[in-house]
Amino acid sequence: MTTTSRPFRSDNPALDNALGQLAGAVQILGYHEGIHETLATPRREINVAVPLRRDDGHVQVFRGHRVQHNVSRGPGKGGLRYHPSVDIDEVRALAMLMTWKCAVVDLPYGGAKGGIDIDPAEHSAAELERVTRRYTSEIMPLIGPTQDIMAPDMGTGEREMAWVMDTYSVNVGHTIPAVVTGKPLAIGGSRGRGTATARGIVHVADAALTHAGERIKGSRVAVQGFGKVGANAAQIFSDEGAVVTHVSDAFGAVRDDDGLDIEALLAHVAAAGSVVGFERGDAVDGASVLTADVDVLVPAAIDSVLTVDNANDVRARFVVEGANGPTTQEADTILGKNGVTIVPDILANAGGVIVSYFEWVQANQTYWWTDAEIEDRLAGRMRSAYAEVAHHAHDHDLTLRDAALVIGVQRVADAHRLRGLYP
Ligand code: NAD
Repeated sequence: MTTTSRPFRSDNPALDNALGQLAGAVQILGYHEGIHETLATPRREINVAVPLRRDDGHVQVFRGHRVQHNVSRGPGKGGLRYHPSVDIDEVRALAMLMTWKCAVVDLPYGGAKGGIDIDPAEHSAAELERVTRRYTSEIMPLIGPTQDIMAPDMGTGEREMAWVMDTYSVNVGHTIPAVVTGKPLAIGGSRGRGTATARGIVHVADAALTHAGERIKGSRVAVQGFGKVGANAAQIFSDEGAVVTHVSDAFGAVRDDDGLDIEALLAHVAAAGSVVGFERGDAVDGASVLTADVDVLVPAAIDSVLTVDNANDVRARFVVEGANGPTTQEADTILGKNGVTIVPDILANAGGVIVSYFEWVQANQTYWWTDAEIEDRLAGRMRSAYAEVAHHAHDHDLTLRDAALVIGVQRVADAHRLRGLYP
């Protein structure tokens, strides 16, 4: 971490943003510097070399990391990211966000994250399997069902989670499904995990609209990103009677003011690989989705897309953050001044980690729940977390983002206080 004498700033934008959010919550809570430093400092970090024998025989070495930002409320929980830009500071930032996210939705977890600086598109499945197994064996001493539980993130999915679980289990000597979540259903994955994040987004969007005296049915929605989160969110919004007028992906965007046929769009993307070329809508510029004349905007692609350059042009009155960190701090201030309600990432996209928690509970009990049980429990947790954050925001005159951070940070600080400092 590049810091002054205290770990409160970083040259890495993602980490600096996370540290800035923590500093804001600490200031509101009136904590002294000792607690601030405890909360800003990751508990454990491991950096490993991940040598890969390529399919052509030569060896290439990648860098892998695992950071447990905080484990005061339970084991570390967080994804494994494969992306060329992964570095230790980005992993530290994402691990910190996981700590607050798990706390705000009251899961018995701390926050963790892992990553390898590899581009999965450049490698065969066999190479990715060797990388995943080597990384897992390098970080074995740190992970486990009661220590640190991995899940998919950008560039990884249920295939990688199956390899992590197998490598861990083979080394321990018996099958331990609870060491990862987001596994295939056939080896202990949970029903509803694939759509959980999107379903959670629609729950909190509905709660925010209802709070404002509006309804999801008939509301106009734009979605940036048409992957695991965005495509499922568009589908569920549409099923709930919302009119999804704009959708984009990395290659382009489509628009239909009468409402896109999401089923047909999904079929098109399955065949063509992108929303581009969809005939039952007009092709539009990807950036225009963020400033579309809609009620609800769901950024569900990458970070830092709502910035000082476009925040004043946003016409949606509700921004529900599906992606992690889609709004820069400057844009957050501008949108707030313009009266836009932002449901922050640590609350809005927590549906995924909630159903990951259900998967872990089911694996620990070896007793599997039905789709209806998962959906009911997810709805209950998302809606009660939203209500708690909205009440706190109202009572203390805070934005939903500050209220969510304050609740999350306070829960973690309380755990530290109650447990005391060893020795
Ligand atoms: P994904 O890889 O499945 O989909 C990403 C989508 O975004 C793709 O359609 C891609 O084409 C599109 N995209 C990329 N760059 C874009 C750009 N510049 N403009 C428009 N679209 C662009 O990823 P995902 O799992 O859907 O995750 C999306 C975001 O949600 C990430 O920020 C991720 O960290 C966050 N998130 C995901 C989960 C989950 O359960 N998958 C949970 C919490 C948060």
